[in-house]
Amino acid sequence: MTEPLAPPPPTLRLTVDTAALAANWRALDALSGAGAAGAAVKADAYGLGVDTCVPALRDAGCRNFFVAHLSEVAGVIAHVPGGEVAVLHGVLTEADCAYARATGAVPVINSLDQARLWTATGGGRCHLMVDTGINRLGIALSEAGDPAIAALDIDILMSHLASADERTAMNRMQAELLSEAAESIAHRRLSLANSAGIGLGESFAFDLTRPGLALYGGVPREELAEHIRPVAQVQAQLLQTRNLAPGEGVGYNATFIAPTHMRVGTVSIGYADGFLRARGPGNALFHAGRALPILGKVSMDMVVVDLAAGPDLAAGDWLDVPWNIADAAQQNALSAYELLTTIGPRLRAR
Ligand SMILES: *Cc1c(COP(=O)(O)O)cnc(C)c1O
Repeated sequence: MTEPLAPPPPTLRLTVDTAALAANWRALDALSGAGAAGAAVKADAYGLGVDTCVPALRDAGCRNFFVAHLSEVAGVIAHVPGGEVAVLHGVLTEADCAYARATGAVPVINSLDQARLWTATGGGRCHLMVDTGINRLGIALSEAGDPAIAALDIDILMSHLASADERTAMNRMQAELLSEAAESIAHRRLSLANSAGIGLGESFAFDLTRPGLALYGGVPREELAEHIRPVAQVQAQLLQTRNLAPGEGVGYNATFIAPTHMRVGTVSIGYADGFLRARGPGNALFHAGRALPILGKVSMDMVVVDLAAGPDLAAGDWLDVPWNIADAAQQNALSAYELLTTIGPRLRAR
C-alpha cells in the first residue's frame, strides 16, 4: 500500500512571530494598569490564524477572548479550556442561546430584544454592551432602567470607542457615559478600551481591555509605538523570470509597457491572497532589502516585479512582501485592519 503523497508546501508563506505576539499582549496588559488585557481574536485572529495565535496568547496569560460570531467560538475555546470566550454579536435566536450555553461561550447582549431572548431561554451569565456614541451595537443609555436589563446576570458591562485613534473630546465623553451606566446597571467588571483606547491612558482601561489590532503589530496611536513589535511576515516565491522587449506590456490590460529591455519576475501572490490591487503600482517587493518595483496590475494569484535590482534572482527565490502594518506609508490605500484581515486562506499560518 502506498501512502498518499503530502502536498508540496505552498509557494507563499505567512510567518507569525508568536514571541512578538506574546510580548505585545504582555505590554498591552501592563499598559492596562490595574485592569487586565483580554484579546480580540475575531476574524481568525485578524487573519493570522486562531490556531497559532490563541495558544500563544493563552500561554502569555490572557484569559478573556473576544470573537464576533458564534461560529468562531469552537475554534477558540478548544485552545482555552479554562478561559473565557465572549461573543460580541450576541444572540439572535433560541438556537444561538442553546449553542452559547452548550459551548460555555458568553454572549454580549446588545439590545433589549437580545436581553429578553437570553432570559426567556434560561438566562445565566452574560455581558452587556451599552452604546455611548458609536451607534453600532449596544443598548441605548435610556434603556438602562428597563426590566429586561435588570433581569440579566451581567459580568462585563462594556462599551466601544468610536475614535480612540484620534485626539477628540468624544473619547472622554464615552468613558464618562460608561461610568454613568455603571451606576445604574449591576455588573461585575467594566470594559471600554480597544488597542487605541489603551494608548489613551490607564483611566480608559477600567477592569478589562480588549486589544485586537495592536496584538498583531498594528500601532493605532503613537503612544503604543515603542511597545508594539511586528508580528506578521509574508514571503512569496518567484515562479518564473522573463525578458521584455521595449513596447511589451505586463499583466491585465497591459497597464505597464516596458520602455526598454527589462528582466522581470512573476511572483506567487495576488489579490486572492489578500495582496489587493491597491498595493500594486508604486509599491515594491523586496529581496535582502533590495526594492523590486511592482509592474502593472496585481492579478488573481500573481504579481510581476522589475528584477533590475536583483539580477541574481531566479525562480524559487523567496521575496519579502511588505506587510508591516505599523508603517503608515503602506496605509495610503488600506487601513491596518484591512491589511491584516484580507490575508487570504492560502497564507494562513498552519
Ligand atoms: C474588534 C473589537 C475590539 C478590538 O479592537 P482593536 O481596534 O482591533 O483593538 C474591541 N472591542 C470590540 C467591541 C470590538 O468589536
